[in-house]
Amino acid sequence: MNTITDLQKTLQRIDRKGYKAYKSITGSYRADFYTLFIDHVQGDPFAAPSRIRAVIPQKHAGFPADTFAGRSREIALRDFLTRRFSEAAHTITAHNKSAGKSGRIGIDSPGQEILERSSAWINDREVELRITLGLPAFGRTIDGQLAQKMIMDQLPRILYAVLFRNLNSGAVYRHVETAEDADALRGMLQRENLIGFVASGAILPRRSGIDDRPMSPTNAIPFEPPQQLARTFSLPNGGEIRGMGIPRGVTLIVGGGYHGKSTLLRALERGVYNHIPGDGREFVITDRQAVKIRAEDGRRIEKTGIDPFISNLPRGIDTHRFSSDDASGSTSQAANIIEALEAGASALLIDEDTSATNFMIRDHRMQELVAKNREPITPFIDKVRQLYTQYGVSTILVIGGSGDYFDVADTVIRMDEYRPEDVTEQAQQIARKYRLQRSAEGGESFGPINHRVPLPGSLDPSRGNKAVKVAPRGLKTIQFGREDIDLNGIDQLVDTSQTRAIGESLVYLKRYMHDHLTVKELLDRLEDDIRESGIDCITPGKPGDLAEIRGVDVAAALNRLRSLRIAS
Ligand code: ADP
Ligand code: MG
Repeated sequence: MNTITDLQKTLQRIDRKGYKAYKSITGSYRADFYTLFIDHVQGDPFAAPSRIRAVIPQKHAGFPADTFAGRSREIALRDFLTRRFSEAAHTITAHNKSAGKSGRIGIDSPGQEILERSSAWINDREVELRITLGLPAFGRTIDGQLAQKMIMDQLPRILYAVLFRNLNSGAVYRHVETAEDADALRGMLQRENLIGFVASGAILPRRSGIDDRPMSPTNAIPFEPPQQLARTFSLPNGGEIRGMGIPRGVTLIVGGGYHGKSTLLRALERGVYNHIPGDGREFVITDRQAVKIRAEDGRRIEKTGIDPFISNLPRGIDTHRFSSDDASGSTSQAANIIEALEAGASALLIDEDTSATNFMIRDHRMQELVAKNREPITPFIDKVRQLYTQYGVSTILVIGGSGDYFDVADTVIRMDEYRPEDVTEQAQQIARKYRLQRSAEGGESFGPINHRVPLPGSLDPSRGNKAVKVAPRGLKTIQFGREDIDLNGIDQLVDTSQTRAIGESLVYLKRYMHDHLTVKELLDRLEDDIRESGIDCITPGKPGDLAEIRGVDVAAALNRLRSLRIAS
């Protein structure tokens, strides 16, 4: 193997040459405490930066086994290393000057969630970091001086900063123990028949709609569980934790406008992932398969069986295999629910703010004016209980506008100036006092969930002369071949590296589609493969910019691919 000195000589030799001469530095180089792999060299200073990896043997990295023992800690430590590397790289390379976006060393940049990432790996032998390196230039001429400084001086300093002995060990342990506790708590909820948990003292509101950090302590009112719903659990590291347990079944979050209902639901949406210490939502935990549902008019639908909610459409349109290029609010919300169930959702999270009114409720007077046989929609209120009793799927519903739902709720939480109260009894009394005049329209059973088989030919990731051209464009769009997949309806995506991983997964899944598998079977294959071989398996090379994904979100993207066709 070459040494880092060989690389230095090459950089001296190609100094001031055309940018393409950088290609010659591809390869691997041994340095004092790490090995450097230059896997991909960018074509010009304006292109996506070059990809390199640094592998540090544990002899030098020095991570004690208990910092990454078990899956929860391992993922959290990899997340922690990525954060510290990112910070050090930012500080150390901030003043480099180069053409284009070059001159920087970087790594994937995590937000408030702790996600499994391909940016950092650790085992008992070594640590591997997957790094981006913007190779510097004057115009299109190689700046060999700065390249040498970046690779020979700055990179080792950044790597040095993430050796265990140079990290704050208290912070390391806090990070991995918090994640381990959160995962353990998620497991306990499942055993205790709870779908969600919000710890006493949790900070739910965020700094702003575009800033996911916690609202400042002077403004935020910490969460305090109501007595009746308070539960206590014993965490592996953090001792006793008290909070509000949300039982399985149908839960309403009610309360006046601006009293914190949506903020609570949003925290629960994010509770499918773990959070960093200091986030405020470290112990806001939701079942992993809980899915946010909203209306999403304009989306495409391909042969989805929305008939539990919608039937008897005008002109005899088939709702058992319903397709539309431009769904309405109610049909899109119905399809979103059916597709989430098809993909294995355990719970639905719904906010009236983003729902179609005619999908949620149909009152007595409207039933009288518009007869059932003239109204294709069976409102959610008539299906929400069946969903739980027949499929075991819980619902948490924010609803300030209709007390009709009291009849179908197991638990009613009222938010009052950001403080939750358990008003289940009261709601039930009111329901008995004012009997509903509306008649139930849900029928005997929820109805079947059909399992669809996607046709591989309908997924075409090619564009121009590229066989695969798939990439995220921001958080909520995937460029998939010649098409853009619009993910604005997917509220639980938190990171562009997830968006990238979802795009890659769709390409990856094509191989299994030739076996005529259903959407759920495809997702199971994907999850098995990732579990066995790591997230890297979905794409060739060793990319450092993938983050963990849920099958339900992959399905959501597949369902929004406008070219998708389902076998008939
Ligand atoms: P609702 O859905 O009941 O109308 P929201 O959840 O949208 O209310 O909250 C309204 C406002 O109150 C938001 O700006 C939110 O940031 C703020 N807020 C929510 N919870 C808290 C809290 N615990 N402490 C302080 N402010 C909060
Ligand atoms: Mg709201």
